[in-house]
Amino acid sequence: MEIIQNYIDGALITSKSGNVMPTEEPATGSEYASLPVSEPSDIDVAVIAAKKAFQGWAGLSSADRSQWLLKIAQAIEDDRDRWASAESKDTGKPLALARSLDIPRAVANFRFFANAVLHTASQAHHTSPTILNYTNRNPIGIVGCISPWNLPLYLLSWKIAPALATGNCVIAKPSEITPMTAHMLSQLCIEIGLPPGVLNIVHGPGDPTGQAIVDHPDITAISFTGGTQTGRNIASNAAPLFKKLSLEMGGKNPNIVFQDCDFEDALKHTIRSGFANQGQICLCGSRVFVQQEIYQRFKKALVDQVGWLKPADPADAETKMGAIISKEHLQKIESYIALAKHEGGKIIVGGERIQVKGRCQHGYFMQPTIIEGLHHNCRTNQEEIFGPVITLAPFKYEQEVIEWSNSVEYGLSASIWTKNLSRAHRVASLLKNGVVWVNCWLIRDLRTPFGGMKQSGVGREGGEEALRFFTKAQNVCIQL
Ligand code: NDP
Repeated sequence: MEIIQNYIDGALITSKSGNVMPTEEPATGSEYASLPVSEPSDIDVAVIAAKKAFQGWAGLSSADRSQWLLKIAQAIEDDRDRWASAESKDTGKPLALARSLDIPRAVANFRFFANAVLHTASQAHHTSPTILNYTNRNPIGIVGCISPWNLPLYLLSWKIAPALATGNCVIAKPSEITPMTAHMLSQLCIEIGLPPGVLNIVHGPGDPTGQAIVDHPDITAISFTGGTQTGRNIASNAAPLFKKLSLEMGGKNPNIVFQDCDFEDALKHTIRSGFANQGQICLCGSRVFVQQEIYQRFKKALVDQVGWLKPADPADAETKMGAIISKEHLQKIESYIALAKHEGGKIIVGGERIQVKGRCQHGYFMQPTIIEGLHHNCRTNQEEIFGPVITLAPFKYEQEVIEWSNSVEYGLSASIWTKNLSRAHRVASLLKNGVVWVNCWLIRDLRTPFGGMKQSGVGREGGEEALRFFTKAQNVCIQL
């Protein structure tokens, strides 16, 4: 068993209670590491370390902080295969995906914010010839970064990098289900000699560990990515303490295929957006609406191609679909398939868990699943399943598909497939989603504002938005 420890004040240490919990490899179902169950007293120690480090870190020039982030990025990149293997093992995602998406993006996150912080300006307002206003953007202080299991290092670094770049000290908590690459990041920071207390990584469950971060009075901002219900709990706990909050939450994203689309392109990306990472990406297009003129042709092609997608050992470099994150999550997905049947849905592909032979025989694998025949208002089409399950429905008119798309409580992302540019602009402007992709999916420019509308998000991440979130504005007004 590998032993994961908290990274506090520049050192790896156990939790004060000594309590630990296991973490397992989803592809095999076997426990392979243990992590501390951190409690409020551990968060206290981390906060003391962060407070001690704050003045020194905030007092560095942006260029010096930038150098530290670049060092981290380079060290990960130099050893990317080891990081990708660790991420694949911890999450069950295909090694190829960890290599092509998770690890390069984590590197890009550190590099992007290392550079971004060198190219920002604060404002000055010349109110009159004798009155000058200018704006200071100072670090907040000690900030909490809480991230989920689906893209562990990718999303943790997306928060840590802008927080550190802007001069904050960080208390970060990865999901208890996927702690490994966060632990490797702790080891890396020790190796490169990052000043102690600047970054602290504590492990453990949402309750008590995450909860203790949210409740700590000296952690004055929380950047969270995870489920909507958890976000709601965090918001209600943080609100009385007036903490600054950024919440990135769930999605139930529409994928709208108009009859004038590039058929092959729309098909290819519908499969990708439905089943990448076994459907466990918040941006996955899980509700597929296809215009009736091409519905039967699209359905046939989709069924044919998805039928070939076979979950397999994620460690095999050829694997395109890996394991579901946990037994509990697999059971949740199965319960939604049962619900879909109950609601009158017809399973046209998949619908069953499967056993992968060999070392993965006890792992958590699920067939890619397509369900047809459901009303847009039923629970299967309203609630986030977060698995390899898509629903397929025909539509006739633009207006109705916009209405169906917007009928959920979520508003994270949407994809539109059409060659008609006017329609693309029109539909995009009417969709209540924070990100709308036209004739593509998951193209990310890190300068753009990222986040959801409605119950998918509060605040925005990315580029300037993140740099603003992690700083507090102060207006200085001078009468000359
Ligand atoms: P959870 O909400 O269960 O957990 C997210 C993080 O919050 C984990 O670190 C978790 O710890 C922690 N947490 C749980 N309870 C609390 C609490 N009371 N106080 C503080 N922290 C807490 O989400 P999942 O990990 O299951 O991730 C899947 C969800 O994340 C999906 O809904 C998905 O849509 C969403 N997501 C959203 C994204 C976006 O950008 N909008 C991107 C990626 C995912 P632990 O896991 O240890 O319990």
